[in-house]
Amino acid sequence: MVLHDALSEDHVEELAQLLALIRRGSAVTRSELVQSSGFGRTAIARRLDHLMALGLIAESEPLPSTGGRMPRGVYFRADAGRLLVAELGATSIAAGICDLDCRVLSSREEAWDIAAGPESTLARLEALLSELLRDHQAKVWGIGVGLPGPIEFATGRPVSPPIMPGWDRYPVRERLAKRFSAPVWVDNDVNVLALGELRAGVGRAHSDLIYIKIGTGIGAGIVSGGRLHRGAQGCAGDIGHVAVTDDQAVVCRCGNIGCLEAVAGGAALARRATAWAREGRSGYLQQRLTEGGDLTAATIAAGAAAGDTGCVELLAAAARQIGDSLATFVNFFNPSIVIIGGGVAQAGNAFLASIRQRVYSRSLPLATRDLQIVLSSLGDIGGLIGAAHMVVDEILSPKVLSLWIKEGTPEALAGAHAGN
Ligand SMILES: [Zn+2]
Repeated sequence: MVLHDALSEDHVEELAQLLALIRRGSAVTRSELVQSSGFGRTAIARRLDHLMALGLIAESEPLPSTGGRMPRGVYFRADAGRLLVAELGATSIAAGICDLDCRVLSSREEAWDIAAGPESTLARLEALLSELLRDHQAKVWGIGVGLPGPIEFATGRPVSPPIMPGWDRYPVRERLAKRFSAPVWVDNDVNVLALGELRAGVGRAHSDLIYIKIGTGIGAGIVSGGRLHRGAQGCAGDIGHVAVTDDQAVVCRCGNIGCLEAVAGGAALARRATAWAREGRSGYLQQRLTEGGDLTAATIAAGAAAGDTGCVELLAAAARQIGDSLATFVNFFNPSIVIIGGGVAQAGNAFLASIRQRVYSRSLPLATRDLQIVLSSLGDIGGLIGAAHMVVDEILSPKVLSLWIKEGTPEALAGAHAGN
């Protein structure tokens, strides 16, 4: 019956608003919902009926009461559907399955070279997702993917990604929507990581933050006023390619000279570590190289922790470069927290301390008065959690909710996303 109500724009907007209050747990009884939403009791009752008919909420057991009748609350049915999520880095694939509360129920991670191209990479991702789905038989409400390059969010396509040959304009959304009959959202991996920290990590109490990933390359996700700031073309925060030196010898993989990631990214550090080992500037690295090991940022971190002066110097130089650039972004954007993630960020406290020191000494006092600079709290799984939040934000937004609410499940969006 309720499903035949006229679904005006206002009605859907109100449903989305109530759902948001219930999902956050900030209002669960009818009285609390009346108070928090400003709607009348009858209006609340009708909207809750509608959300129950959709299977999005259910009635909870009676709640403890201080006197009189025990109130019943409602809760968001996180089990109503499942989300498939993935984060593809330059050298790895992570895939997971989540409930609608964005909890990762199960995940897989393996080494993979993104430069292998979209056909084989997405075939591998589809195999991993199918495997996860087999173990968790459920309706897929949506798919979220983070990719290591600039993405046009509206279409879910990579645009001239520098480290992803063959991916330019590849229809990632269409392919996955067809394969799993579910709607798909694709974003830059750093945006997805920033969203994960904002909703479920150290960024929770903040509405203006910068997330910097220092992995093979360097990139940043920006949250402004509680929302991801993607920019006009979706490439906001692409800070790895700001120029930090005129040195003609520093050639970046993007083709330019002197980019930040070409001096301080993981790939650059690994190259410099090998050179320093050969030149005898670090005993620790020299020994690792002789043993036939690959020299990576992690090797340098281990050397620095063991007190090797060459390794300490290499990390300090990278931290200085990153700190100087970060100081500029902090002055420009005035975040309340900077979150540092990615492989190189695991280099330890000395690395973090050098970045902090550099930022504090080079930023305006007002911009750094309450600024926190911390390591990511979610680690490797942050990208999967962030991708899940991206999907839920979309499917429960008033605009997208109005497109599927009559059908009762977001699977109804799959056709449009598959390009049918
Ligand atoms: Zn570059």
